[in-house]
Amino acid sequence: MTQQTKHYIELADMIALRCQCKECGAALTVKLGPVAGDTLAKCPQCRKGWAAVENHSYREEIANFESAALALKNVLPLMGFALTLEIKPQT
Ligand SMILES: [Zn+2]
Repeated sequence: MTQQTKHYIELADMIALRCQCKECGAALTVKLGPVAGDTLAKCPQCRKGWAAVENHSYREEIANFESAALALKNVLPLMGFALTLEIKPQT
């Protein structure tokens, strides 16, 4: 018999975005909400481009994700189902 454990998190439990630099490993946690200015533009430690890469900014994509997550989180109590996100098990 094969047994598999599934892992879920509730959207309501999402409180922050954790960003870890692919270059130096530094991590920055930003509370879920409007990201202030250029907070995620560059690594605060090594200055490698994070959301600003090669003359392109991904700030809008981050803001869209945050906005959608917060909007959904706010209306979840009004809906007839509980929403959870399934995440990969740690290996
Ligand atoms: Zn870095």
